Amino acid sequence: MSTTEKNNDNLLRGGQFIVKETKAEDVFTPEDFTEEQKMMRDSVKEFVDREIWPLKERFEQHDYALTEEIMRKAGEMGLLGVAVPEEYGGLGMGFVTTMLVCDYISGASGSVATAFGAHTGIGTMPITLYGTEEQKKKYVPKLATGEWFGAYALTEPGAGSDANSGKTKAVLSEDGKYYSISGQKMWISNAGFCNTFIVFARIEDDKNITGFIVENDPSNGISLGEEEKKLGIHSSSTRQVFFNETKVPVENMLGERGEGFKIAMNALNVGRIKLAAAGLDGQRRVISKAVEYANERIQFNVPISSFGAIKLKLAEMATNAYVDESASYRAAKDIEDRIALRMEAGNSHQEAELKGVEEYAIECSILKVAVSEDIQNCTDEGIQIYGGMGYSADAPMESAWRDARITRIYEGTNEINRMLSVGMLVKKAMKGHVDLLNPAQAVADELMGIPSFDTPDYSELLSEEKAMIAKLKKVFLMVAGSAAQKYGTELEEHQQTLIAAADILIEIYMAESAILRTEKNAKRFGEDTQKEQIAMSQLYLYHAVDIITVKAKEAILSFSEGDEQRAMLMGLRRFTKYQNMPNIAELRKTISNKVIAENTYPF
Ligand SMILES: Cc1cc2nc3c(=O)[nH]c(=O)nc-3n(C[C@H](O)[C@H](O)[C@H](O)COP(=O)(O)OP(=O)(O)OC[C@H]3O[C@@H](n4cnc5c(N)ncnc54)[C@H](O)[C@@H]3O)c2cc1C
Repeated sequence: MSTTEKNNDNLLRGGQFIVKETKAEDVFTPEDFTEEQKMMRDSVKEFVDREIWPLKERFEQHDYALTEEIMRKAGEMGLLGVAVPEEYGGLGMGFVTTMLVCDYISGASGSVATAFGAHTGIGTMPITLYGTEEQKKKYVPKLATGEWFGAYALTEPGAGSDANSGKTKAVLSEDGKYYSISGQKMWISNAGFCNTFIVFARIEDDKNITGFIVENDPSNGISLGEEEKKLGIHSSSTRQVFFNETKVPVENMLGERGEGFKIAMNALNVGRIKLAAAGLDGQRRVISKAVEYANERIQFNVPISSFGAIKLKLAEMATNAYVDESASYRAAKDIEDRIALRMEAGNSHQEAELKGVEEYAIECSILKVAVSEDIQNCTDEGIQIYGGMGYSADAPMESAWRDARITRIYEGTNEINRMLSVGMLVKKAMKGHVDLLNPAQAVADELMGIPSFDTPDYSELLSEEKAMIAKLKKVFLMVAGSAAQKYGTELEEHQQTLIAAADILIEIYMAESAILRTEKNAKRFGEDTQKEQIAMSQLYLYHAVDIITVKAKEAILSFSEGDEQRAMLMGLRRFTKYQNMPNIAELRKTISNKVIAENTYPF
């Protein structure tokens, strides 16, 4: 069973997963990688194992030159230009392949992951997506090959999450030939070795900031702060950047005047899904190291991997990694297909890519939050499995844990991304792009009706799990629909409710992605080949149901009372009820036995 050919009828719009059923054959899975993609993956893995992994200790020593050297080597291999169209010196590969490269290059060092993400994503993409032909010809080939490196300067001391509030100014010269940029940027990755900055500044009293491509020339009023002393990613260059009447030719304005905030946000959409990809191989490597250690470490005369307490951890870590991988590549292929459909409809590559990614901004936020929190938990449990050694800088877990921590903060904090995911969905509903209203009304009607007492037939593989996903979507519609009705345009001020709704949304997307991947693979490769994957899908769903139950209850109690509240709580019980509860201890045993037997992350 291959993936269905996509057209406008069967390719879901961004966010539509919450109201539509997706068929297993309609999701792309890592098992669908083409031969070319597998070759790319293997060569990136080989590069990382040869060039980065053996130098892990040096990456802890603030060796910024080492990161730069690795980036240059990655450029020589073409890895910095995977997403760049061929006419600008890149490999012009599809979105899935660009995710794949980002995934496998990022697993061994957070410093390299950050430098790679800042350069290829937010440092280069704004030019390929918004640049003029001249700008693209001038800058992109150099950035695609690693001859030059890029950075992205949005954040300021007073403008972090509130990115449009920056004070950096751009003043047009009297002869109209250049802008003079002055201001202070903060936390700028790659600042220490980059050749270009994408700088956001305000012209006059414009409501929105404007983007500029600024060449890094110290003789042009650009100076850098000291390297920041950070918790992790010790060899990623992070500095303040000061612009003091830096002259930037008018032709270096990126997009239109006042379009900078939109550019910044769209660049972040790509950055967010790529950051999710960047958290995948890190999990695989941490799990592999953890199980190797657990198989070797003897306590009470047996390997610690024989203890249920350790099996539990390995099973949970592997499950999250599997789920994250499933959801990341599902979304990546949806984006790739959307880009292809737009190009078929006559969009330029630039416009198709821009709109294609923007369409799935909700999924990008969901993935950013889910994967960053999973890699944090994974490295934390990695430390725990290593025991005292886990706390030592001589073992690999300590730096992995510190490196992972940043992913919850940059590319929009997880709080901001949680609120964005629901906020964007509500906006799409208001624009008529996703119909939430009718499905929400149908759920409200169902709540008033008499529940069916028929016993459904769940004999088919994963059918109860899929039915559960359909019910969980009703929970989201019930909670988000009622909250939207109650608060109207003031919904965004009720952050606790938004965050609860976001958690429900996130859990549904992640759980559904794993279930569909497993179902698709069971159908084509045989159920017996997917024993552990079935267990992981069931284990993740079990937790998702628990999280959703808690979050939905919290939200319902916060905005309803009396009969309405009682009806919703009853609905919540109905929509989260299993017919056959899984034995999660057995599921964990099935999963961890495989991980332990293979002595690596095997899925
Ligand atoms: C190592 C590192 C590398 C970075 N690289 C870059 C880079 O290359 N380029 C760049 O431009 N920036 C970069 N950043 C900046 C990063 O994107 C910001 O730190 C991030 O967006 C958060 O902004 P802030 O630090 O000002 O936190 P704040 O915005 O002050 O947030 C503090 C806390 O308040 C919460 N909060 C803020 N606003 C709201 C709200 N409206 N509702 C609810 N909660 C809210 C946040 O979630 C957070 O928990 C980097 C940061 C770090 C640490």
